[in-house]
Amino acid sequence: MTTRYQPDNPCRMIRAYDRTLARLSRREWLNAAWALGAAAVLQPALSIGLSAQAPRFSADPFPLGVASGDPLSNAVVIWTRLAPEPLAGGGMPMTNVEVAWEVARDDRFASVVQNGTTVARPELGHSVHVDVTGLAPDREYWYRFRVGGEASEAGRTRTAPLDAARIDRLRFGVCGCAHYEFGYYTAYRRMAEEHFDFVVHTGDYIYEGRANPRAVRQHRGDVCYSLSDYRARYAQYKLDPDLRALHASAPFVVVPDDHEVMDNYAGDHDARDTPPEVFFLRRAAAYQAYYEHMPLRASAIPDGSHIRLYRRLQFGSLLDLHLLDTRQWRSDQACGDGYRTCADARASTQTIMGGAQESWLFRSLAERRGRWTMIGQQVPTFAIDRRSIDPNARFSMDRWDGYVEARRRLYGRLREVGARSTIVLSGDIHQHYASELKMDFADPKSATVGVELTNSSISSGGDGSEVSMDWQRIRGDNPHVKFHSNRRGYIACTVTPEEVRANFRIVERISVPDESARTAGSVVVEAGHPAVNLD
Ligand code: FE
Ligand code: CA
Repeated sequence: MTTRYQPDNPCRMIRAYDRTLARLSRREWLNAAWALGAAAVLQPALSIGLSAQAPRFSADPFPLGVASGDPLSNAVVIWTRLAPEPLAGGGMPMTNVEVAWEVARDDRFASVVQNGTTVARPELGHSVHVDVTGLAPDREYWYRFRVGGEASEAGRTRTAPLDAARIDRLRFGVCGCAHYEFGYYTAYRRMAEEHFDFVVHTGDYIYEGRANPRAVRQHRGDVCYSLSDYRARYAQYKLDPDLRALHASAPFVVVPDDHEVMDNYAGDHDARDTPPEVFFLRRAAAYQAYYEHMPLRASAIPDGSHIRLYRRLQFGSLLDLHLLDTRQWRSDQACGDGYRTCADARASTQTIMGGAQESWLFRSLAERRGRWTMIGQQVPTFAIDRRSIDPNARFSMDRWDGYVEARRRLYGRLREVGARSTIVLSGDIHQHYASELKMDFADPKSATVGVELTNSSISSGGDGSEVSMDWQRIRGDNPHVKFHSNRRGYIACTVTPEEVRANFRIVERISVPDESARTAGSVVVEAGHPAVNLD
């Protein structure tokens, strides 16, 4: 691990890196002109002027759409990836290609406020990440890219309010778990129609497995191992028009879960006893592809098999949003993973964040600037006790239930810093839940430290049902859980200084395209009163 991953230092080095990312050297220009003439999908440039060296494409170079992410009060990352042959390695020449971008106040680009050029590099799959700075706070913008006479679609984005600004309202969506094969991304489409201020994606953006011929629609290719495998998988997912529409509608704030690499991996352990030094090769490929396809700052460029993703975003005086990575640094699941009744899950050595991230988070939680403290992360922190199904398999070792002391430390820290308006966001389990977070889940009278909102899934698990069979059997043992749905969907959150309202949105079926969405339940959390109120 290099010093780049120490929480306090990355800024200076990364800023210098951003500058070199955005400009071609003279030597690179000459190489680019040479290579572009030889590329299959491109016609050779006839003139030797710089602008004429831009490639000419025989297919749309922007089939993967555009995206934006991680809004600050003066900046937002805009993203695209040039891939005229998205499912055949991208179809780009192995050279640097200059890409123009512009940001405007209006969707017709009548008032462009900034423009520039950046470089799409073969090393990064010709992905483009521009950290556009100098923007006004709390404002809507539109952005697009141009290369070789082709323009991308326009994306809408929005900057965050100034750190201390008093704002009345924020609206964001929470989603995750979008297994392509289980059905259509209708829930992504319905989210796009909401024009959120931002979207939190809690992971499982892709799934790494091979095609199931009986699925609603099929993965292309075998299980992902190499960089080109993961790139092709992201390309297949991003070709989906509903996902593309959601990205174009609002900035994303992303954290990956397990399936961006492989099912239920934990730190340097995969689930198959692969030697860690070998698993790290796969993890490095997966993390690189993740960076390439997500609207992340250059601070998230992986260094070998490590990627820095835990971070904090500020939304005025309303919201501190802490984003976690509970996969990369966690200790292996206790008792061999799965559902267990396992004493080792309570060992203080079980860490789900790793020491450096936990220290960073605990410091960050103490720096409360907003009314609401939110923690966006992957797997449920609240307990789900399954003793009525199997007393010898009470808890999932893959969730915070397998890292009980780490949970106690987190909840204890929330109390210690006086964060009385805390909401944890999670996903992973393919069902909607609203839960109260108890210092001791075995004791309903113990203190409630916050509320957790768990998004179901965009598609993973298929059509589902109103209530899962398992939940009917175990709900009595989990009185802290106040809402459940086993349909696919997302959460629409409205934050004000007084309350957070969460609408649990569902679609009845995803095995057929384009169904409508409805609110299956609404919960309200009042500031300073950690409790779930059903509305
Ligand atoms: Fe999932
Ligand atoms: Ca997962």
